[in-house]
Amino acid sequence: MSRTALVIGGGIAGPATAMALRKAGIEAVVHEARAEGDGDAGVFLTLGSNGIEALKAIDADRRATATGFATPELTLRGSKGKTLGVSKISSATAAPSMTIRRADLYRALHEEAVRRGVQVVHGKRLVSAEDTGDAVTATFADVTTATGDLLIGCDGVHSTVRRAVDPGAPAPSYAGLISLGGYARGVDTGAEPGSYTMIFGRRAFFGYAVAPDGEVWWFANVPRPAEPARGEVERIPADEWRRTLAGAFADDAGPAVRILEATATADIMPASPVHLLKRLPAWHRGRMIVVGDAAHAPSPSSGQGASLAIEDAVVLARCLRDAPSHAEAFADFVRRRRPRVEKIVKQAARINNSKAAGPVGRLFLDAFMPLFLRAAARSSFTEEVYGHRTTWEVAA
Ligand SMILES: Cc1cc2nc3c(=O)[nH]c(=O)nc-3n(C[C@H](O)[C@H](O)[C@H](O)COP(=O)(O)OP(=O)(O)OC[C@H]3O[C@@H](n4cnc5c(N)ncnc54)[C@H](O)[C@@H]3O)c2cc1C
Repeated sequence: MSRTALVIGGGIAGPATAMALRKAGIEAVVHEARAEGDGDAGVFLTLGSNGIEALKAIDADRRATATGFATPELTLRGSKGKTLGVSKISSATAAPSMTIRRADLYRALHEEAVRRGVQVVHGKRLVSAEDTGDAVTATFADVTTATGDLLIGCDGVHSTVRRAVDPGAPAPSYAGLISLGGYARGVDTGAEPGSYTMIFGRRAFFGYAVAPDGEVWWFANVPRPAEPARGEVERIPADEWRRTLAGAFADDAGPAVRILEATATADIMPASPVHLLKRLPAWHRGRMIVVGDAAHAPSPSSGQGASLAIEDAVVLARCLRDAPSHAEAFADFVRRRRPRVEKIVKQAARINNSKAAGPVGRLFLDAFMPLFLRAAARSSFTEEVYGHRTTWEVAA
């Protein structure tokens, strides 16, 4: 029986997996590449009802979402201000979806894991992993090693563990978009606290949610067909982005320009290119397995990446708790998880392929048209996604 696990990556899946494993009686140490306190984690995300239910299964929901606010529905508008649709982005029967700063979610999960006795070590960038048959050894960039019964790759869309599992694994694909965002104060958008609006602008895509204290949390997606060099867009100064975005949204209806003006330079978060991973043939080999974005990074249009990562964490721990061997547990995990995640990934892709917009609009629709709006005619699918219950005691 496996008793120790090396968890690689301390983002969302990492601490959630470590907590779930601990609940299953398996000691887990989280190895995170970033230095302690490095909060470079993007802007904010929406955790679906299903992700919150999965956190509930390991009693981590309240702490993890304490700084977020409920965003149960979404309004989609066109560039002239026309309302294109309003849709629930929550399950009708479970906790409402919550919008939360990504750094707050990372911190809360990390602190809760540590509070429960999980060891988290920073500055540990995995460079290779070797399965020796009766154990697995991880080697880090600082030339240290660690050995455990299992190695679980929670290292995101650019996963190193994925390649250790299968050197021929597909690389993530670039979505043709740069994403960035920030926080604005003192701007009246006319929208109620808790509301979430997305605008298909003429040249770029804009989304904003109004927090209970009136702060406006916004993000923008700017098309850039050629994939930027590593670190290139991250280095572009905030004020340059402000000018770029002001130009991009100048001809659109809606408050994007005013929101940008009301955002302090320090509150514009670094930009990053968007990458996706559609289908990974092998999720595990020997004592190694990948979960979360390392196994399946859906289009942001799904609004589901973080929630699926947390579901994975709970289901993997449950499988390891219940199966007689790690090999059977891993096989059971894939059997349970692959159909659900691939259905969500595929539905997003199918929806994305049926676009009638022009090249720029089409790009946004392809990558960001919320799954639930396109699937509005099939509210059963929305419920299938958001109403999914991952429980600890009963196999879902
Ligand atoms: C623009 C955008 C918007 C999104 N919006 C949403 C949303 O609204 N809702 C939603 O559910 N999802 C959203 N997502 C997806 C979501 O962010 C991811 O699905 C989620 O973060 C996956 O969690 P993870 O733990 O698997 O990976 P990550 O959160 O990426 O964490 C991976 C961790 O591994 C570490 N790491 C990487 N390599 C190594 C290594 N070699 N050694 C050690 N550590 C390593 C990283 O530093 C990081 O801390 C969005 C994504 C994008 C790009």
